[in-house]
Amino acid sequence: MAESPAARANVLRRRLEEAAHAYYVLDRPSLSDAAYDRLFRELQALERDHPELYDADSPTQRVGATITESHLAKHTHLVPMGSLDNAFDEAELAEWEGRLRKLTGDAVDAAGYCCELKIDGAAISLTYRDGTLVTAATRGNGSVGEDVTANVRTIPDIPRHLAGEGWPPLIELRGEVYMTFEGFERMNAERVRTGEAVFANPRNSAAGALRQKDPRETAKRPLRFFGYAFAVPGAAPLPFRSQWELLETLVAWGIPVAPARRHCPSLEAVHEWARELEREIRPTLAFAIDGGVVKVNALALQAELGVIGGRVPRWATARKFAPDLAETPLLDIEVQVGRTGALTPRAVLAPVEVGGATITYATLHNFDLIAEKDLRIGDVVQVKRAGEVIPQVIGPVPERRTGAERTVSAPHRCPICETAIVRDEEEVAIFCPNVACPGRRLEALAHFTSRDAMDIRGLSHQRLEQLIAAGLVSDVADLYTLTTDQVGALERFADRSAEQLVAAITSSKAQPLARLLNALGIRHVGAESAKLLARTFGTMEALTHASVEALEAVHGVGGTMAEAVHAWAHDPAIRDLLAKLARAGVRMDEPQAAVADGPFKGRKVVLTGTLPTLARGDATALIEAAGGKVTSSVSKATDLVVAGEEAGSKLEKATALGIPVIDEAELLRRLGR
Ligand code: NAD
Repeated sequence: MAESPAARANVLRRRLEEAAHAYYVLDRPSLSDAAYDRLFRELQALERDHPELYDADSPTQRVGATITESHLAKHTHLVPMGSLDNAFDEAELAEWEGRLRKLTGDAVDAAGYCCELKIDGAAISLTYRDGTLVTAATRGNGSVGEDVTANVRTIPDIPRHLAGEGWPPLIELRGEVYMTFEGFERMNAERVRTGEAVFANPRNSAAGALRQKDPRETAKRPLRFFGYAFAVPGAAPLPFRSQWELLETLVAWGIPVAPARRHCPSLEAVHEWARELEREIRPTLAFAIDGGVVKVNALALQAELGVIGGRVPRWATARKFAPDLAETPLLDIEVQVGRTGALTPRAVLAPVEVGGATITYATLHNFDLIAEKDLRIGDVVQVKRAGEVIPQVIGPVPERRTGAERTVSAPHRCPICETAIVRDEEEVAIFCPNVACPGRRLEALAHFTSRDAMDIRGLSHQRLEQLIAAGLVSDVADLYTLTTDQVGALERFADRSAEQLVAAITSSKAQPLARLLNALGIRHVGAESAKLLARTFGTMEALTHASVEALEAVHGVGGTMAEAVHAWAHDPAIRDLLAKLARAGVRMDEPQAAVADGPFKGRKVVLTGTLPTLARGDATALIEAAGGKVTSSVSKATDLVVAGEEAGSKLEKATALGIPVIDEAELLRRLGR
């Protein structure tokens, strides 16, 4: 017997409720967004066709998830936070516009639409009283959210004090906390290393970071913020009349607003914008969006149109993209050997189109994750790709199993050199310990020559393999002994390309120490840390003689990195390699940055407390651009202290030492701003 509408509604409500809990509360989605949206729409249609099924508790009538007890205090929003209705294609957007037209006549034409990016982050409400941030809260169930003020204070994008003027005495500023793809991938790589579960997407990782118990943990996560709305309790007059002006005003108040917004005079112009957004703008963004948001521009018209069921505004809708998710057979699981010897499994997929690109491979991070996800060769798997994020395998589709699938386990031997693998005690990754492993050597050479490292153009993996096979290169220093004749004698190397390659290798000798350190692939040292080490120690000599304590004392270098650098520098094979590189004439120091000329030339400045408008990073950049050096602690060598609100011991010390103290206004004046 077919399921009754009431029974089906119950099933849908329960599944949606469970998924919303996993998504909003646990930050670990159990369904894909597309699957969630499909079930949600089925329930909406069912409730529309059977009004007797109405239930105020249904997920279609609510925002977010049921608020459960947690370590965070509850916060009641002065004005409720809503969600958005969706339009998945041009026809649905036209239907939405048709409804607006019915209600307002031609008024929508005069107003036009404000089109914005739909940032895929976590919604947040920031309460500013007299221009000062007093509370930050998550959306929660729309009426009551969780108080995350301490965590939000660690986000440099969010000003503690609004800049400019004209802000109402009490406002709730709304926006999205998000993470860039780069920050997201860096964080996931770190979690893989420490054996923690990886986040499915930047949205979940941003939401998870916001709800941390310890603000110091949040501070480690690279969170960012964009504002897009604000609410004022009661009927306080607003200093603007349109959504467009609202966004401009937010910018004037020092709130970051997302790029690529557009004022569109007609529905046709909105369609055009959405097409451009999906095809051209989205691939250039450094953060995830899951569509655009189209808003009636005139605020008076917004007020007239109002809100549907206390949940979604009538005057705005999300224009969502086609899902970046596909299902495809998992043909094989390959093991790749990295330059550090780490063995990483990767999925070989039947080619499938996802989010505008054809995917054949996806990273699987490590074997524990394969077991956790129960991935088997022969499974049909769900793959996801969002913007620039590396394609990911979400998991198998168990219903599609035939019984012919094969489980895989971690290899006991390196697939290239067959050396027995080792497992690092503290890490989940497995390694090939053989430093002479050809797989490792190839990857080490490829990394050495890559763009962010020594930047030697013209050396593909294939060409490197050729050089190794010909016995010309066995370590990175051998590159510098290559002659045009040797290279030109190899197959598929024309004389001209041999000359170009040798010239490129020769000019790479002048690369600064920072690039060389990155190129050498020291464990735990990436491009940014390499810069930090090069700037601090100046020469390879100084770095290789530094003690663990001296390394650890560098701001930005943790214990793990300090130990790794120290061990690397004391490895006899590395010492030989460095000597060989030095003999070849490779530069071993970092050029000292020319001191910028300006009002702070040669002066040591300390920042303390919270500055009213400038974020810490911005103030540092301005002082450095004016020739100054920003240091973290006050000593007799300090020339000047810039103090903001809640300045503590550094200010006391400066006063005791008789060091001049100025405020932000004076700083800006001296900077000529
Ligand atoms: P939503 O994400 O579809 O849209 C509303 C939200 O968009 C707002 O709350 C705001 O935070 C955000 N937003 C971003 N940029 C904005 C801008 N410029 N202007 C206004 N708002 C902007 O709605 P939602 O209620 O947060 O969540 C519903 C969606 O979340 C579903 O459609 C689904 O895709 C996803 N979801 C997935 C699961 C799952 O299991 N995978 C579970 C629950 C929800």
